[in-house]
Amino acid sequence: MNVLVVGGAGYIGSHCVRQLIAAGHTPVVLDNLVFGHREAVHPDVPFYSVNLGNESEVGKILRKEKIELVMHFAAYAYVGESVTDPLKYYFNNVAATLHLLRCMMGSGVKKFVFSSTCATYGIPDKMPLVEGMPQAPINPYGQTKLDIENALKAFAHAYGLSFAAFRYFNAAGAAEDGSIGEAHDPESHLIPLAIDAATGKRPPLQVFGTDYPTPDGTCLRDYVHVDDLSRAHIAVFEKLETPGAQYFYNLGTGTPTSVLEVINAVEKVTGLKVPHSFAPRRAGDPPALYADSTKAKTELGWAPQYMTIEPIVATAWAWHQAHPDGFGKKG
Ligand code: UDP
Repeated sequence: MNVLVVGGAGYIGSHCVRQLIAAGHTPVVLDNLVFGHREAVHPDVPFYSVNLGNESEVGKILRKEKIELVMHFAAYAYVGESVTDPLKYYFNNVAATLHLLRCMMGSGVKKFVFSSTCATYGIPDKMPLVEGMPQAPINPYGQTKLDIENALKAFAHAYGLSFAAFRYFNAAGAAEDGSIGEAHDPESHLIPLAIDAATGKRPPLQVFGTDYPTPDGTCLRDYVHVDDLSRAHIAVFEKLETPGAQYFYNLGTGTPTSVLEVINAVEKVTGLKVPHSFAPRRAGDPPALYADSTKAKTELGWAPQYMTIEPIVATAWAWHQAHPDGFGKKG
């Protein structure tokens, strides 16, 4: 299948491009490089640096490359910033996605795979999370993702769009060969910050909150390897053959891991201490978020290859050792 990977220079998109190639598909990358890295794009893959608002250009690419399916990874994803600057999030995550979808409908491309998030659930009453549970986001980031999920349902009904929306838990790790990995600027994620604290590249890690109602008082999250996430995107292709089909899947291992357990894993894998201090809770952090991914397992035959935190951290560490400065300065 000829697949346009929007955001293919970003963290999850760049890993998915490699999985697509491995599975025999033909990816094409579109990325405006605001957060993406040119170096993360596979060298054999056609690359276009275009904004989604430029519908005539995006339409041309869809036709020229004979695109059959679009995967959409491009989004802003800083929860705190979405609270202080929601306009930026609504324009980039909602408006830009609508431009893309309008182009697709205009060009007759009717298969779509969308990166959604467990942040659409808000603060859930029950855990683990199952797809049918209520979605009540507590920040504009989660709301923008839910808005697109809802738009997609209407488009499936009205235009015969078939789509899958994957609700990611905590994407983590890096390609096994160490060639690409996580490189956000600014970095806000736990595993890269813990690794950088261990190597002395950044100040000691702050553990946000030690009084949560969890076994060790720190937040529980479901860390899922970025290659496992990517594989689910490809496993859903067959299901999208039916016009108007719509699917929602949680993607997580189902293993809750605390912040202190992540620190332990980083110490074990690196052989270094992670200097850290205890800080107040970070605004907007739910105490626990972990997935029931039975639906993806049953319907897609998806089985994460990384079920525990240490092997995931090991891939992040390999990437860090091979590229201590990430992809270098923004490019
Ligand atoms: N966290 C932390 N210190 C940091 C960054 C993150 O204690 O410097 C905690 C955060 O409160 C959350 C978990 O680590 O409980 C994962 O946070 P991250 O930002 O990686 O992902 P999120 O769960 O927010 O998507």
